[in-house]
Amino acid sequence: MTQINPDCCPELAEKLSAFIDEELPLEVKQTIEVHLVNCTDCEETLKVELFIKQRLSQTSVEISAPHELVIRLREEISTWQIEQDLS
Ligand SMILES: [Zn+2]
Repeated sequence: MTQINPDCCPELAEKLSAFIDEELPLEVKQTIEVHLVNCTDCEETLKVELFIKQRLSQTSVEISAPHELVIRLREEISTWQIEQDLS
C-alpha cells in the first residue's frame, strides 16, 4: 500500500502546470504520477489545469462541457485566484 501524505498536495498542485508542460525532472514527474493515482483531489486539480491549458491553446474551438463541470471549474479557478492574491 502506498501511503499518501495529504500535506504534500499543495506542493504538488503548484507543480502540476510544469508537470503538464513536461518541464519537471523525470524523478519529480514519476512522484506526481504515483500520487495522482492515489489522490483524487490532485487528479481533479490536474484535470482543471489540463482544461485551462486546452482552453488557452484552442481558443477558437468551442468546448462544450457539462454545466455542472463548468460551475465546478469556475469555483476552483476563483479559489486559486484568491489564494494567489493572498500570497
Ligand atoms: Zn494530492
